[in-house]
Amino acid sequence: VAATPPRGVTSAWPDPAARTAAERLMGAALADTHAYLRLSELCDGIGNRLSGSESLDRAVQWAAAAMRGDGLSGVRLQPVMVPHWVRGEEHAEMVSPGPQPLAMLGLGRSVGTPPGGITADVVVVTSFEALDSLPADRARGRIVLYDVPFKSYGETVRYRGAGAEHGARRGAVAVLVRTVGPVSLRSPHTGAMAAYGDTLPKIPSAAVSIEDAEMMHRLTARGVPVRVHLEMGAHTEPDARSNNVIGEVRGRERPDEIVVVGGHLDSWDVGQGAQDDGVGCVLAMESVRLMQRLGLHPRRTVRCVLWVNEENGGRGAKAYADSLHGDVSHHVAAFESDGGAERPIGFQLGVRRVGSDSTDAARLATGLTRLKALAPLFAGLGADQMTDGGGDADIGPLMTMGVAGISHRTTMEHYFDWHHSRADMLDKVDPVELRKNLAALAALVYLVADDPEPLAGPSPAAPRAHGPGTH
Ligand SMILES: [Zn+2]
Repeated sequence: VAATPPRGVTSAWPDPAARTAAERLMGAALADTHAYLRLSELCDGIGNRLSGSESLDRAVQWAAAAMRGDGLSGVRLQPVMVPHWVRGEEHAEMVSPGPQPLAMLGLGRSVGTPPGGITADVVVVTSFEALDSLPADRARGRIVLYDVPFKSYGETVRYRGAGAEHGARRGAVAVLVRTVGPVSLRSPHTGAMAAYGDTLPKIPSAAVSIEDAEMMHRLTARGVPVRVHLEMGAHTEPDARSNNVIGEVRGRERPDEIVVVGGHLDSWDVGQGAQDDGVGCVLAMESVRLMQRLGLHPRRTVRCVLWVNEENGGRGAKAYADSLHGDVSHHVAAFESDGGAERPIGFQLGVRRVGSDSTDAARLATGLTRLKALAPLFAGLGADQMTDGGGDADIGPLMTMGVAGISHRTTMEHYFDWHHSRADMLDKVDPVELRKNLAALAALVYLVADDPEPLAGPSPAAPRAHGPGTH
């Protein structure tokens, strides 16, 4: 006796052919060694890939060549102008009470120090509120250290983002931010700070390892003055040319309808950007490669998009969205993989009202119902949690235009231990987990692209160019 399908899903979906195709993709992915080899080409052969760097250019050419070699359709580069921040030479040491080097990394977008660096006393705070409650001149002419233990990325990252601005408002000459992560082995984690405002002085901003932050905090708590010398050669050059990389598996019935799957090709300028987000790029590339190799063309076209400049600008995501000229009526869904390749657990769906960040509850419910109907196929991989809350940086602009966004999810047990640090290298990627992630992503992308119905109902119609009331 067939189980009654959930409301909103016909008993015919997924049909036997789609089910078989998904199972073939999973089988091929679980036996696959190509994805890991490809990731090692990117990580070991090219290395990290900051926007504006020569290595990002090499990665763009490498990815396009790989897609052509895979036999994908419509392989192309989509031009994007990206910010070009350069770290330069940098170092920091505690000069008092005794000389000790500090493990630091300047934050993306930061200005450098004046030549010769900055030497100043350190004021340690554990929150913005604590900084604001200090006597008016307490931070003036000093270096503010935010020693804020990691709670969640979303909660703690604001000290990296807004630390410089808050410090400048209190007259600080530089800020240090404890690594935004649960663990460091004296490994500082970089990342972008928010753009400087126009009114406050632009002061340098750097991450320090958890160990160094706690050492300086212990000393000041004992009443021992801490003095630090900071030198940073960071600067911003004119915007550089770069490209998103795009390739497709053409749909067999409705080739003009699109399901996007992608990750971001750029990374920070330390480590290899292996988990963030080399794996996301390779998972997207290999998903379409497997479909192409097995001759599995879903009803709709699957478009692999490797965005650039996720880390410090989001210009690649914006360029892709802008290229649609407001018309997402043919975009059925967009998948993003930017949570590493630890054990896969499932997928999160987000559907927003056009032009806003608020949820379109009706379309979300439709989409979740359809995703949950597929979940049993993913139970064997442990990747069958289909929940709401989807939305990552590179599909954000598409979601704001009304496209259903699906985030690939993993346990992220250690993700933030490595994230944006020198430790994010290929050894952190388990080849077995990579294969399981590939199996989950390739199969779900296929099923969403093959579903006769759009996942979350129709995407918003194209705005009319000369509708009533327009001029
Ligand atoms: Zn990322």
